[in-house]
Amino acid sequence: MDREKLSEALARRGFKPYFFDNAAQAAEFVLKLIPNGASVGSGGSVSVAQTGLLPELAKTRAVYAHSVVPEEKRGAVYQAAAQAEWYITSANAVTEDGELVNIDGAANRVGALCFGVPNIVYIVGVNKLTPNLPAAIERARNVAAPLNAKRLNKKTPCAVTGKCAYCNSPDCICNVTTIMHHPTKYQKAVYVLVVEENLGY
Ligand code: SF4
Repeated sequence: MDREKLSEALARRGFKPYFFDNAAQAAEFVLKLIPNGASVGSGGSVSVAQTGLLPELAKTRAVYAHSVVPEEKRGAVYQAAAQAEWYITSANAVTEDGELVNIDGAANRVGALCFGVPNIVYIVGVNKLTPNLPAAIERARNVAAPLNAKRLNKKTPCAVTGKCAYCNSPDCICNVTTIMHHPTKYQKAVYVLVVEENLGY
């Protein structure tokens, strides 16, 4: 990875790039960045889970993450996460030109990332970096989504074959694709923390 080139590309788009050698350093940064007492939303990101951040944040902040509550209580958590002061996520792919790509099923994550939460923190492992947008979308479809479908026990072709069949399944987790070119109008700050380790899918 060319840190300088990626940093310039992200900063030119209005994102706030930071680079870390490992996930522990990124987690330490986030714990200092988000003030005590703040509200923090998150989705079911494997990358975020691997940092161990959410339990640490929950000691002194209000954390809303559906992945840590029972199914029947998730609706309220989705709503609270979408209205939090901060949102922590990863991306399915990041291009060398600084664009952030995500595919979602319920769109709770991409909805929060696009509107309603003023401060966003992306934590992205080096495995998510791709040369361009077609490669980023290909990665989201043929690497991230099949592994997530399998993890979530979805009845989709990719959960069996490991490859996207562009399905029309009721269990499809690829209902929305977002490309963040820049922070959106009402966002205060979008941090992109790039970690030189593999994180998530
Ligand atoms: S097969 Fe369906 S759920 Fe799986 S990656 Fe393709 S569109 Fe998404």
